[in-house]
Amino acid sequence: MSYTGRCACGGVTATLSGTPVAIRQCWCRQCQQVAGGAHTTNAIFPADGVAITGTLATHSYTAASGNVLTHSFCPGCGTPVMAQTTARPHFRTIRLGFIDAPHDLAPDTAIWTGDAPAWAVIPDHLEHYTAQPPAPPAPAPATDPPPK
Ligand SMILES: [Zn+2]
Ligand SMILES: [Zn+2]
Repeated sequence: MSYTGRCACGGVTATLSGTPVAIRQCWCRQCQQVAGGAHTTNAIFPADGVAITGTLATHSYTAASGNVLTHSFCPGCGTPVMAQTTARPHFRTIRLGFIDAPHDLAPDTAIWTGDAPAWAVIPDHLEHYTAQPPAPPAPAPATDPPPK
């Protein structure tokens, strides 16, 4: 599968290849700040399928786990574009709102629901985790030669 992405001002665009390993709502406090009140919605793509054009602004912080999280956004319009973590450099977490509609992507999981505000409505059909879920399996190496 292949997708395209575009921020609100068009300064940042992307092509996204491959199938996301998970699509998650995240209700952690940092995501509530990024999203303006509710959850972020994120499609986790293999990093080697993500090609970004344009200049990103970034903000990095050390999470409770000790991993460094980096959020990227368009410096021109503020559209959240993606996030990545030092714990899983082989993935990019693409904000669903950045991906051009229409597309067939929808969340399957809600994480950090323990941090959600009391008014939050989280669909029952999603897999729920009150905090961080187990990491998705690493993508199979695409081009590495077989070991000798
Ligand atoms: Zn922009
Ligand atoms: Zn979050």
